[in-house]
Amino acid sequence: MRKEFLPFSRPSITEADIAAVADVLRSGWITSGPQNAAFEEQFCRYVGSKSAVALSSATAGMHLALMAAGIGPGDEVITPSMTWVSTVNLITLCGARPVFADIERDTLMISARTVQDLISARTRLIIPVHFAGAPVDMHPLRRLAERHGIAIIEDAAHAAGSAYRGDLVGAHGTAIFSFHPIKNLTCAEGGMLCSDDPAFCERIRSLRFHGLGVDAYDRRRQGRSPQAEVQEPGFKYNLPDVLAALGLQQLHRLDALNARRAQLAALYREQLADIDEIRPLAVPGYPHRHAWHLFVIRLDIERAGMDRDAFMQALKDRNIGSGIHFRAVHRQKYYRETLKPAPDHLPHTEWNSERICSLPLFPDMHAEDVADVTAAIKDILAS
Ligand SMILES: *Cc1c(COP(=O)(O)O)cnc(C)c1O
Repeated sequence: MRKEFLPFSRPSITEADIAAVADVLRSGWITSGPQNAAFEEQFCRYVGSKSAVALSSATAGMHLALMAAGIGPGDEVITPSMTWVSTVNLITLCGARPVFADIERDTLMISARTVQDLISARTRLIIPVHFAGAPVDMHPLRRLAERHGIAIIEDAAHAAGSAYRGDLVGAHGTAIFSFHPIKNLTCAEGGMLCSDDPAFCERIRSLRFHGLGVDAYDRRRQGRSPQAEVQEPGFKYNLPDVLAALGLQQLHRLDALNARRAQLAALYREQLADIDEIRPLAVPGYPHRHAWHLFVIRLDIERAGMDRDAFMQALKDRNIGSGIHFRAVHRQKYYRETLKPAPDHLPHTEWNSERICSLPLFPDMHAEDVADVTAAIKDILAS
């Protein structure tokens, strides 16, 4: 058994990352400023978007995007229940109604097929989630949305460096990335909204900082002119330079970090292939580049004779961490009580919600760590 605990995720932080953050701390300007501006510019160029706004989190970005899209009472927003709770919380807090689309059983992503029958006269927006580093099949979904005049905002929290049919996620439309510590690129907490609609981005930029239209750094650079005035009430969702400096460093290494994730994922796929009780997600059949944010497996609970939580505990007993991405949102207390979903609602979401488990995957892992995990899984299933 492993001597040291293997967490399911750990950020990759180099001495150069630490030095870049220390430089900002010594510089005299630690909140949003030149590092923030450089991070926006370089991230925008990396994904091939027209415009990008850095934010304090992806959740903050989604909040502003829903506001800027005018989502409110009477509106319906289609999104998966197999997602992080933040999106559904925000839809609810805006006064709109979340409408859950089921997922494709082996990729955990919504598709034009699972969305089409849910569109009503009230549908205003679709929020697909690129899952675990694989991209959603966007072309059919965009055609469906265009036909009905519905907007799309992509949840790209898992998709920094993912590509769909030759273009990076974020190159088209509007996409929101997360830089939380488990994500492929981290700055501790942070997010980026990319859009090919510069006017939409400018609205987000203003709402990010009190609705002033400028932030403290702009005011310093431009002196007292223009005198900032509230254009509309906004929030305080800017990304400080201390964090942006870390994001910028990580961006320079993103392709290398993702390549390492892909190597580790390939080892898992090879070593798990002959374990009948373990079913990794399928990779999509359309052209894409996978960012391998997570390595998600489904436990065949019937064949294994144990449930997923017991399996995770058994991994933990063997010094191996794991995670759940995600517990279906519609089965969580508030949504269970307010939305009262039928028992057979979203069959593929529920089937996966009970069986999924994310195995350790982060760039600083070694091949021996993957071998430890697969050996532990074999040991658990044999006992
Ligand atoms: C992490 C995550 C978010 C939220 O990102 P934050 O930066 O923590 O706000 C949203 N959606 C998905 C699918 C995520 O995994």
